[in-house]
Amino acid sequence: MFDTLIIGGGAAGLQCALVLGSAAKKPYAIDKKIGIIAHQKASHLQSALFNNVLGLPPNTLGKDILVSGKKQLADLYPEVIQIDNEKVNSIDQTDGVYLVQTNKATYRASIIVLALNYAKPFLIKGLETYLEPHSLTKVAKDRIQLKNENLLVKKGMYVCGTIAGFRSQFAIAAGTGAMVATDILTLWNNGEHVKVHDKA
Ligand SMILES: Cc1cc2nc3c(=O)[nH]c(=O)nc-3n(C[C@H](O)[C@H](O)[C@H](O)COP(=O)(O)OP(=O)(O)OC[C@H]3O[C@@H](n4cnc5c(N)ncnc54)[C@H](O)[C@@H]3O)c2cc1C
Repeated sequence: MFDTLIIGGGAAGLQCALVLGSAAKKPYAIDKKIGIIAHQKASHLQSALFNNVLGLPPNTLGKDILVSGKKQLADLYPEVIQIDNEKVNSIDQTDGVYLVQTNKATYRASIIVLALNYAKPFLIKGLETYLEPHSLTKVAKDRIQLKNENLLVKKGMYVCGTIAGFRSQFAIAAGTGAMVATDILTLWNNGEHVKVHDKA
């Protein structure tokens, strides 16, 4: 049983996992089980090249970030369980618990974070009610988003990245992943606002 399970290992999902991982030893998170289904085949990072992201050296390849992001997470925050090579097929909810079914297993979680992207077709069953056309891309592109209010779809279900309805820029996607992480940490901290900072 996960306390939080992130679905998607691209820009938003990995950033969300890094912030949650960085708080894993804090008193309010110490007993929490955090995981990420780090599927990456369908990530928009696979073909991207970055020159305009603060902190990334020019000519950084998105496919390299996919590898280095997972390594950073494993090296710094091994408490975050990384589930590789699994694709989510459906999401159900029973008695307040989310059941996330992949091509290999079923996982249970109190909180899920949908860090997918805005591409169609959207094949995960169980989320149909929340699907709507993406509001911040050209209509001709036919992108989708999940209805949400401040990144919350419904109790225990968060969304981040392009599928949350934001424009496709790396910094925006990563920023919404960090926002969801701090929302969850704030929840675990009984509503006291949380940020996680290291100091030089
Ligand atoms: C060619 C190209 C060039 C770009 N250049 C720039 C640029 O110069 N500057 C810039 O700021 N941005 C650029 N971008 C945009 C940037 O890459 C995206 O904004 C960013 O990757 C979006 O992050 P995301 O987390 O929303 O989606 P993604 O990074 O695509 O992550 C979504 C994740 O969900 C996973 N997933 C999907 N379906 C499932 C499933 N069923 N089960 C489990 N996991 C699943 C995917 O595998 C992926 O890992 C570019 C994009 C492209 C395609």
